[in-house]
Amino acid sequence: MSLILGIDLGTTNSLVGVVDSGFPILLADEEGQRLTPSAVNYAADGSIIVGAAALRKRALEPKRTVTSVKRLIGRRSGEGDWKPPYQLSEIGTTPLQVSAEILKRLKAIAERALEQTVSRAVITVPAYFNDAQRNATKQAGELAGLTVERIVSEPTAAALAYGLDKLSERQKIAVYDLGGGTFDISVLEMREGVFQVLSTAGDTQLGGDDIDRALAQHLCPAGADPVRFVEVAEVAKKRLSTEDSTRIDLPFYDGTNSLSVELSLAEFEKMMRPFIERTRGHCLRALNDAGVKADELDAVILVGGSTRIPLVRRYVAEIFGREPDISQNPDEAVALGAVIQAGILSGSLKNVLLLDVTPLSLGIETFGGLMNTIIPRNTTIPCKAGEMFTNAVANQQDMLIRVLQGERELAKDNWELGRVVVPFPAGAKGSARVGVQFAIDANGILQVLARDTATNTDTLLEIQNTAVDVDDERVEQMISESVEYAIEDMNERIWTEAKLKAEELLPAVDAALIQFGDAVSDEERLIIETAASHVRASLHADVHDAKALKAANQLLDDATQELAVRLVERAMEESLVRRGLL
Ligand code: AMP
Repeated sequence: MSLILGIDLGTTNSLVGVVDSGFPILLADEEGQRLTPSAVNYAADGSIIVGAAALRKRALEPKRTVTSVKRLIGRRSGEGDWKPPYQLSEIGTTPLQVSAEILKRLKAIAERALEQTVSRAVITVPAYFNDAQRNATKQAGELAGLTVERIVSEPTAAALAYGLDKLSERQKIAVYDLGGGTFDISVLEMREGVFQVLSTAGDTQLGGDDIDRALAQHLCPAGADPVRFVEVAEVAKKRLSTEDSTRIDLPFYDGTNSLSVELSLAEFEKMMRPFIERTRGHCLRALNDAGVKADELDAVILVGGSTRIPLVRRYVAEIFGREPDISQNPDEAVALGAVIQAGILSGSLKNVLLLDVTPLSLGIETFGGLMNTIIPRNTTIPCKAGEMFTNAVANQQDMLIRVLQGERELAKDNWELGRVVVPFPAGAKGSARVGVQFAIDANGILQVLARDTATNTDTLLEIQNTAVDVDDERVEQMISESVEYAIEDMNERIWTEAKLKAEELLPAVDAALIQFGDAVSDEERLIIETAASHVRASLHADVHDAKALKAANQLLDDATQELAVRLVERAMEESLVRRGLL
């Protein structure tokens, strides 16, 4: 039986484990450590060091030591407001390659502990990771020599670690995961061993690192480099999880000056409170999206090293109106879940189905620049959905399909994941039939298939991470903006739809009046022309009044109703006459 590793590729720390004799275990390195810092040092001589040894070099070689690379993976450089203290381009590496170095190290730790080679793995990612980020993580695994059998969302993995031995009946739980660099909140439902993510929310730029940096800034005397204080800040932070006050000493931080101060828990809590408060909105949104009230939850699970902070625990208790469950080791729950999932896949644990959801809606742009959602957000994956589209103008020879991700009504407000041109034979308006299918696999990776049904030609779009042109930071913003702009967007959508209809209606009515003028009485003509002029007036008004345009369209529609019937009758008559039947 081929072993599959379970890997938690964390922002701060990573872990690796495997199911051994039916039990999930986490593997330790040669020093007995199970947590491997997600740090990679690129020495001047070209050698690469990973883990605790790399972290020790950070203070001396901040520009050569890569940490928190998870914040950069799957993103274009320079995006987001997080500025790393290093430049990957200067070092000559990429987020994907750095992640691969960490994964190689984890693979080596496992192979040493297991005394055999392993080449398969399950890797966890934050629930909020989009397609690009999941793909990049998968590629990093492959670069490290691992076949990535599955990408699993971290809260799902945590729930798995928590749930397998304890929950059996239908229960709802929330997973509050505050790690080093990311915050995730998920609401899950468990039914007899089946996990389903009902909703997810979070912030990919919030975690314990922010608290360390804020404290470093606080400790750093004017003129000194705050980077030198990050390490002592983190040590002090951890001590204040169990103590009321702590002494911070950093002798000769710049060769001459030394730091020695006493920091009280109260002072520290005041400083970090704003960071922790930022999680509240996400928690409320996740509950709302899941349609679950806080008091309907059976448990609130804490995951991530930063949930050891007493203020975080008090805050979670306040948000959810109940004490969180702290029975899990917050550093290991996700890794343990990954190991369990790996065990299930390799057949060494009994099968439990894992269901995940799409964090944001996926769709394509349609006429008038509108977003046409094909897979709504929070749809359980894997899933498949499709729709049929046609050509908007005559003699069109191809159709541009823009794949979009986001919650806004207008295409331009969502992100473009990719685009593909689908060719088809030119014909009249509305003659082409292009089926577009979206399929999301168990890893949350999207494949778009466009089929011209006339020729049965398929065009397949692979969403490669390099082709992704999205601002990752807007993942979290997207949902709050969609709520904020809902009314405006809706008005714009109704307007665009009414405008398209008016633009179709007016020339048709004009043409009919010219061609079949004799079939219309003067009175009827006046009514139709008045209705048409109302539509034109609304269409060209300075203010976009969607309701007025819609109403004017309706009046014109009604006014031409009888004419339309007569035109159809006449056309039929003419055709019968032509064919000598009348
Ligand atoms: P994770 O990403 O889950 O590995 O969490 C790492 C984060 O948890 C880092 O920011 C650590 O500083 C933080 N952390 C770990 N242990 C503690 C502790 N005892 N008290 C406060 N923060 C901690």
